[in-house]
Order: sequence, then structure tokens, then C-alpha cells
Amino acid sequence: MNTDEFRQAGKDMVDYICDYMETLAVKRRVTPAVEPGYLKNMIPDEAPERPEPWDNIMSDIESKIMPGITHWQHPRFHAYFPSGNSYPSILGDLLSDGVGIIGFSWASSPVCQELETVVLDWLGKAIGLPDEFLSCTQGGKGGGVMQGSASECILVNMLAARAEAIKRLKKDEPEAEDGHLLARLVAYCSQEAHSCVEKAAKICMVKLRIIEPDEKSSLRGEQLRQQIEEDFEDNLVPFFASATFGSTSSCSFDKLSEIGPICEEYGMWLHVDGAYAGNAMICDEFKYLMKGIEYASSFNTNPNKWLLTNFDCSTMWVRDRFKFTEAMVVDPLYLQHNHDSQVIDYRHWGVPLSRRFRALKLWFVIRSYGLEGLREYIRNHCRLAKKFESYVRDDRRFEVCNDVKMGLVCFRLKGNNKINQDLLASINGSGKLHLIPSSIRGKYVLRFCVVAEKATEEDMKYAWDVITSIAAEILETTEKVEKDKELPEILSGAKIPPPTPIPATAGDKALFRRLSRQFSFTKSVSRDIYQRSISRNSLHDGVSPIVVLDEEGEHENKDDVFFGPHGTIQEEENGK
Ligand code: PLP
Repeated sequence: MNTDEFRQAGKDMVDYICDYMETLAVKRRVTPAVEPGYLKNMIPDEAPERPEPWDNIMSDIESKIMPGITHWQHPRFHAYFPSGNSYPSILGDLLSDGVGIIGFSWASSPVCQELETVVLDWLGKAIGLPDEFLSCTQGGKGGGVMQGSASECILVNMLAARAEAIKRLKKDEPEAEDGHLLARLVAYCSQEAHSCVEKAAKICMVKLRIIEPDEKSSLRGEQLRQQIEEDFEDNLVPFFASATFGSTSSCSFDKLSEIGPICEEYGMWLHVDGAYAGNAMICDEFKYLMKGIEYASSFNTNPNKWLLTNFDCSTMWVRDRFKFTEAMVVDPLYLQHNHDSQVIDYRHWGVPLSRRFRALKLWFVIRSYGLEGLREYIRNHCRLAKKFESYVRDDRRFEVCNDVKMGLVCFRLKGNNKINQDLLASINGSGKLHLIPSSIRGKYVLRFCVVAEKATEEDMKYAWDVITSIAAEILETTEKVEKDKELPEILSGAKIPPPTPIPATAGDKALFRRLSRQFSFTKSVSRDIYQRSISRNSLHDGVSPIVVLDEEGEHENKDDVFFGPHGTIQEEENGK
């Protein structure tokens, strides 16, 4: 591709992205309707030997790529947390790719380091981090850096804490092997912490205590102290705690003001993971949640979740950058330069040497929206979550399961886990909304997150209407089958005798057909397979509703529900 061709293809691509964004809501279903391996038969097994025209490549986007996309920017996407995205951010990444630098040290591209430091100070101040975390603080040791993900932030801080702890232990036991001391180190987090803490502990080869939080899913000081004291008695060395500031399951907040003093007392590194909710701290009304942050050694939040900045952009600050980098500093001749004593070289702050120019996109976003625009975006999500919460509370069939402070509402039908699994599977199967589940104190709940940048009250109302109409169908069906002595036992997973065929009535068949049409994503399995799978839960992927075929009451019209190309529903296309 030469420059003129790129100029044209680039403009066309921008047009394509704009059209995608503008028509997403009306043209595409939020989740793809493809089966695993769908792509394999659509593209060649071997890479092309000869160049292909750009138009040919682009023509594959709609036919082969888009059918496999889950549309995270769709107004009906309410799963996970938001995937930050905005035009200024996309332009930032485009320019970063355009200049194509690798900014591992100041010398390798001075502005890459310098802009990152400035933007991290901007955001750190807006969030209200203590001055010690900012690199602009006179005589301070702190500073911020961009990592690829929250998982990396937690890993590198655990690595730093591990190195510091071993160094400290070596003062008393200079002859001890590092591996011997390593075996005594213990890290802590709550059950609500993201699984990346467990992964970090695995990589660091340290023990991890996962502590039960309180009834609000918040890790409290007393539980942490109790566990630490027990470990201390056993000659173990508490060295690191990861507090969750907005948990993935329910957006709960650990009590920093209780955990902090304990970590200080035991000389532990306290990391605060605010991957999602940390972004909201740019709004003054939420800053009360940060009480106790002054005890933290490090803090992270992901603008690529909730600050309109595209992945990857995880911002992280440390109180002492010298202590932090100690575990990772290596200094071969080819990476040294004349200014390394005066400047920040981010190559010492993480696992990779090479780094992209990520600061550009965050700089573009902050300047284009202004902090006020970003606050407005976050406040709108929080307000809409409250609106959605009010719908749930006003319906006696449902219950709210988390303390709604940010953009996440966890809710469920009052009843057992199974009915909620069915509800979620049917919602996802309808293709009208996308939600994921989580577990709160053993209960299966549906997580509803406000995600779209310009989400509206109408979107909340639409979602609630879809959820309640599907719930009504499920409750109606459940009520019907509850009359049957056999099915309730299946729902609770109890062992039951071999099934006796139940003659299907005309009404049953009509209901079945209606549900099949509505839940076009249905997995149909025999009752035998269903029973065998209950213990493994393997059928419940949270996406595909399951229809249990009665051996006698066969699905009359198997062919009336199947998938057409590109995620369309064939029967709808046929005008049925
Ligand atoms: N921490 C929390 C609280 C999260 O919610 C998540 C992901 O949702 C993570 C960590 C992991 O984030 P990442 O994908 O950036 O590693």
C-alpha cells in the first residue's frame, strides 16, 4: 500500500467506523449468533503467497469478521464493565501507530515518557490521590505510569512488595536462600477481589489468603487482622494486601480506612485496585470512598474501562518509585543514555521493555472532553444505574443484590439459582440484551452495567421491559411445570428415577414453539443429557437457553429455528 492508497483507505476506514457507530443500534444484534469454529470454514488455511487488493480484504469485514463481533459499544450491551472508546481516543491510537515509536526510555523518544508523566499527574490530581503519588510533588518519590492492564498493575506491585520483603528479611537472616524466605511470604485479598490477584500470587510463587468479606461484600479490618495474626503466629510473613475498590462482581468497596492501618502496622504493601470505580473519583461526591487511601503504597484505575479511552490504558501510581522499580531494574549498555539520572525511564516500571505511545490517547480524551465532560459521563451512568435499580425495587418478583453506588446493578428473581440461570440464558439468547452473571454470597445474580457512552433513560426502560417480559414467560413456564412432580427435582439437581414420558398437550406444544421462536439461540438437549450435565453445569454458559426435549413430546418443527448467515435469524428473514 503506498501513501496515496493509504490516504484513501484511511479515509474510508474512518467512514466505516463512523457508520458502524451510528448504525450499530439498529443494524446489528448485540451478541453474535455463531458457533465455535465458525470462521475456520470461511477463510483459507494457508496465508496468501501473493498480495491481495485492499478492496478484497475490506469486503471480508462485513461477511466474515462482523458476524463474530460482540458489540461492546452497542446500547444493549450491559455485560462486564464498559470498554472505553471515543473518537479522540481512537485518533490518539491512530497517531501513536502512525509515528510508530517504541518508547522504553527517555532517549528512545523523550515525549513518550514526558507526556505520560504529565498526564498521569493530571489524572492523579483529578482523582484526588495524595500528593506523595504525584511526580510533580517537590522532593517526592512518587509517580504514575501506564500499564497494559489492571492485572499487570497488581502483578508488578506484588513483585515489588516481594522484593522489598525478601530484602528486609535478609537483614536478619543474611545466609538464608531467597527461595527459603519466599516460602514464608503471604499476600491477602478478599473473596471479592478480581482473579488477577490470584494469578499474580501464582506467578510470584507466594501464598495468598482469600478472606471472606462482610455482608456488603467489603473486606473489613477485623477479618484481615485475625488472619494476619494467625499467620504471624505460624512464622509466616504478611507482606502484601490487595484491596478492591469497586469489585467486579458487585462493585463493592473494601474498607481502606480499616485495612490501611493494619498494613502499616505490619509493614505490608497495600495495593488498591480501582480498575473500574477508581475512574469515578474524578467526581467530588465519590471521594469519601477513598478514605484511607493515604495508607496505600500503590493504586490503579483503568481509563480503558470507564474514562472513554480505548484499551489498553491502565493507569497506576506508586508512593515510592525507587522502592517500586527495585525488583525490575536491569541496565544493559545498549539501553543506557546520558540523561538517565535526571529522567523517568518507564522500562523499569513493568515487565515489557517496549512500550507504545499510550499517553497520547488519554491526553486527547482529557483535553477533548475536559474533566467536566468526563464527570458528566460518569454521573450519567451512575444516575441511570439508580434508575434501573428503582425499576427492580418496584417489582416484587425481583430483588436488588448490591449496594448501587456506581454504574452496576446486581439483581435476581426471588427464587432459586436455576430460575435466574434460565432468565439470564434467555435474555442473552434473545439477542436483545447482553448481560453476564456473578455470584454474591452464593447466590447467582444478573449483573446489569450501564456501558454505552451516551446511555439514556430510554435504554434503561427498554432493558427492563425485555427482562420483565422474558421473566414473565419463564415464571409462567415454571409455574406450569411445577405442577408436574418430576421437574422440580430436576431443577434442584436432585437425583431422580429414570424419566417417565409425559404426554405433551397441544398447549405445551404451542408454548414450546413460541419459546423456541423467541429464544432463537436455544440449545436443545435430550432430558438424559440434561440430567447428566447438571452436576457439571457445563450447559449453562450464561448465553444459550436450554430447551430440554421430551422424548415423547418431540420438537415438531426442528427446522423452524436455525441461524442464517451473519447472525441473522433465518425464520425472521423468511417472514415467519
Ligand atoms: N480488577 C478489577 C476490579 C476488575 O474489575 C478487573 C476486570 O474487570 C480487573 C482487575 C482485571 O482487569 P484487566 O483486564 O485490566 O487486567
